[in-house]
Amino acid sequence: MAKYIFVTGGVLSSLGKGLASASIGALLEARGLRVNIQKLDPYLNIDPGTMSPFQHGEVFVTDDGAETDLDLGHYERFTHARMKKENNYTAGRIYYNVITKERVGDYLGGTVQVIPHITDEIKRCIRHVDNGEDVVICEIGGTVGDIESLPFLEAIRQFRFDHEPGHVIHIHVTLVPYIKTSEELKTKPTQHSVMKLREIGIQPDILLCRTEMPLEEDVKRKISLFCNVPPSAVITAIDVDCIYEVPLRFNEEGLDRIVVDLLKLEKALQTPDLSVWEEISRKEKEPKISSNIAIVGKYVDLKESYKSLSEALSHAGFGNDVQVNLQYVDSEEIEKRGSAPLLSQAHGILIPGGFGERGIEGKIAAVQYARERLVPFLGICLGMQCAIVEYSRNICGLEAANSSEFSNETPHPVVALMPDQEGVDMGGTMRLGAYPGILRPGSLAAEIYGGVSQFEERHRHRYEVNNAYREDLEENGLHFSGLSPDESLVEMIELPGHPYFIGCQFHPEFKSAPYAPHPLFHGFIAAAKKASGELFP
Ligand code: GLN
Repeated sequence: MAKYIFVTGGVLSSLGKGLASASIGALLEARGLRVNIQKLDPYLNIDPGTMSPFQHGEVFVTDDGAETDLDLGHYERFTHARMKKENNYTAGRIYYNVITKERVGDYLGGTVQVIPHITDEIKRCIRHVDNGEDVVICEIGGTVGDIESLPFLEAIRQFRFDHEPGHVIHIHVTLVPYIKTSEELKTKPTQHSVMKLREIGIQPDILLCRTEMPLEEDVKRKISLFCNVPPSAVITAIDVDCIYEVPLRFNEEGLDRIVVDLLKLEKALQTPDLSVWEEISRKEKEPKISSNIAIVGKYVDLKESYKSLSEALSHAGFGNDVQVNLQYVDSEEIEKRGSAPLLSQAHGILIPGGFGERGIEGKIAAVQYARERLVPFLGICLGMQCAIVEYSRNICGLEAANSSEFSNETPHPVVALMPDQEGVDMGGTMRLGAYPGILRPGSLAAEIYGGVSQFEERHRHRYEVNNAYREDLEENGLHFSGLSPDESLVEMIELPGHPYFIGCQFHPEFKSAPYAPHPLFHGFIAAAKKASGELFP
């Protein structure tokens, strides 16, 4: 059976519990161990798939088509664990499972209660992700003290109690704020948060203290005394410029050594191999050429909505020795002011995935700008659909072409629901998860993918390029460089003669890692680098 690490958070949200969990996973892998990581979210939605980006940030999609919390993206980027549906449970799904069992009579007339039925179901879900790995890291969403987190905390308290000593540990992520007026680090919020945790029977083994200043020994001793944790297990989790430095900083604080000792992980290597993280950190710090990448979307204030995307772009930056400067451009601004004032500084233009009509004309105008001015362009999902609409309107002469997602009346629905999808319930028509595709030999896409003939990429969309217009688009010069294996769906488009004009119906950002940038982003940033060199030699 795997050993378990539970990660909870205190004081306030957004302390980077997800990154901390992912970094612990990276450190354990660096010691030769196999890990799996799970996130338990206390909210009542069954999954974040239907939640607004304003509420939730990015929806991360797994190979098996689950719509999950964005922290799962960090887990995949930092470790080799591959996320599935069972790696993210919400309270909604836990309750749904219990109520479904109750309806079919599984509880034999008993009263169904939070304890033990909900907590038992939580423990079942926690055990479910143990597939023979050495360690499972399980992150509990929310903040200690929230009412809705209580069943989860009770379940993980029991989980430790159910197992032998040395099998389960608790790590608590907390905040040690620096107060400028008194020039002091303050430990009281941490003391209170741990007090709250101990009230419900959880004694943390390790504290990860988020802070802008290193914790001196006397601060660590104070926290240790009040929180009942050895000073060596009070870890400075200092703010970093680049998230991929977190494993290195944790290692300097001795975190992986303590975890290995507490969990008696005898298989673990004595010295971790951190070369991957050292290399990334070195690349990050090297002086290099910088390229401006405009991301044209409608959630410009919500960087969390484009998490995997911005990470994939920085991975490609590491790969190309480019400092990627992201400029989030509001597509509605383009509608008001035109493309040039907002895009003239861009060495690459990216239109990400999205839903809904708002700002769509601005995105289409941005495609036109990139196509005509030969600015490297990557259109992802909705971004590719916008490119199809733009090309149909401005090159094929189909003036009122549109996606049927945005206009029922268009005479030319160049992007539309496929006939077998129409009339099906909305939730049922979404194409989700990994699907294979084939690459057209000799295309830029095939070259970028390294000469292979197939790919497998993750999808999250409902609409498709309308096959009725494929011939017209091709005759007018657009290439369909990626198709589904039966050739019935367009997966990728490109424009010969343009330095880099690629659209894909899938989301390559979900499969990019810092040590292995995704080829489409790598190629895009390489083209943008060339453009920045040409503009500012
Ligand atoms: N709204 C489009 C569709 O459903 C694109 C979705 C996306 O970009 N993820 O097909």
